[in-house]
Amino acid sequence: MSTPRLEIHLDRLHHNALTLVTRLARRGIAITAVSKAILGLPEIVHTWAAAGVSSIGDARVETLEALARQGITLPMVLIRAPLLSQVDRVVAVAGISLNSEPETIRRLAAAAQRQGRRHGVVLMVELGDRREGLLPRDLDAAAALTLQCPALELVGLGTNLGCQHGVVPDGINMAALSALAVGLEARFRIHLGLVSGGNSANLSWLEHAQTTGRINHLRLGEALLLGREPLARRPIASLHTNAFQLVAEVIEARVKPSRPLGERGRTSFDQIPLLEADAGEHQRALLAIGIQDVDPAGLRPPAGLRILGASSDHLVVERPAKPLELGEEVTFGLDYSALLRAMTSPFVQRHFCAGTEPTRPTGPLSQVTPRSPGAALTREAALHRRRAAATPS
Ligand SMILES: *Cc1c(COP(=O)(O)O)cnc(C)c1O
Repeated sequence: MSTPRLEIHLDRLHHNALTLVTRLARRGIAITAVSKAILGLPEIVHTWAAAGVSSIGDARVETLEALARQGITLPMVLIRAPLLSQVDRVVAVAGISLNSEPETIRRLAAAAQRQGRRHGVVLMVELGDRREGLLPRDLDAAAALTLQCPALELVGLGTNLGCQHGVVPDGINMAALSALAVGLEARFRIHLGLVSGGNSANLSWLEHAQTTGRINHLRLGEALLLGREPLARRPIASLHTNAFQLVAEVIEARVKPSRPLGERGRTSFDQIPLLEADAGEHQRALLAIGIQDVDPAGLRPPAGLRILGASSDHLVVERPAKPLELGEEVTFGLDYSALLRAMTSPFVQRHFCAGTEPTRPTGPLSQVTPRSPGAALTREAALHRRRAAATPS
C-alpha cells in the first residue's frame, strides 16, 4: 500500500455519529453534520446519513454540488455566508444558507425567484466571537427584509462561537440567543423552526446545561470526526478519537550529528528554530510527508517517537529506543488542522478500514470509486439501534 495515506475507520465514524445523534435527540437537538474538514467525502457522508443526522452542512458550494452529484439526498445547508457571485448555485443546491448580509439576502431572493424555488434563510447573530453574524440590534431589519421576499423563508436564527477568538458557548450567550429568537417571534408573529446554537464547541455547554432554552440545532464537524470538543480538545465520552490515522514512510534513516553546521539564517518556512542541547550523533529518520500534506503541529506521534522538524516534503523524526528503518511505516493520530490539510493534499491517499481490515484504496490520485460503505449500515438498522438506545434504562 502506498503512502502517505489517511486510514479512515467508517465504523468508528458511524459510532460517533449515532452516539451524538442519540444523545442530542434526548435534549431535543438535531444535528447538521459539517463535512468541510473531509471535503464532503461521500463515504463518510453516507455513513453520517445512515446514523441519522438531519442534514449536511458545508462552507463551500462546490462541495455541496459534488455531494448532490454523488446522490446524497439529505437536506444541504451552506454554513458560510454565500458569495454574491454564487447565489444562483447556492439556491440550486442548498435548501438553507446561513446569512448576515442584507444585500446577499436580496440577491438570494432574486436567484430563488428566477429558479422558481424557495430558499431557507438562517440569520446569524454575533454574540461575542467576532466572526460572522449581525449584531443583535440589526436583526429586526434583516428579519423584515427576509420576510418581505416571497421566495425566501426565514427558517431560523443561529450563532457561531469558539472559532475566531475561542469564545466559550455558555449559559449566558446561549440564553441570549434563545431570547433573541423569542423576541423576533413575538415582534413578527412568526415561528422560527431552527435555533442553531453553534458547533462542536457547544457540547461542553450542553453537557452541563440545566436548560437548553430554544436551542434545537447544532452544526457538528470535529466532534463527529475526531470525537473531541475543540475548546480544550478533550475527548468526548464514549466517542472514538482515532477514526483517522495518517501513515507515512521512512525514506532515510541515518546517524547524524544533532547540531547544524555553518552560519544560520531563516528556514524554508521562515522560522529560526531554537537549537536543542547537543545530542551528539544520533539516528534520525526522514518521513515522506511534509507541510504540503499535513499540519505537523497537529500530528500525534506514536509513543517513543519525536518530531524534530518539518519542511514542505519531509518530516524529521527520531525514536531513540528503537531506531527507525528504511521503508518502515509510521502511524500518527491527527487533530482538526492536520486532518483538514491531509484531506486537502492531493498526495495523501485514502484507505477505508472496515473493522481492522483495510479495504479498497481511493483518493484524488486514483480513479477507484469504492462501493458505498454505508450499504452495510442500513438506515433501518440505524433507526432500530437509535430507538433501542433511546429507551430509558
Ligand atoms: C466549521 C463550522 C462548524 C463546525 O465546526 P466544528 O467545530 O467542526 O463542529 C459549524 N458552524 C460553522 C458556521 C462553521 O464554520
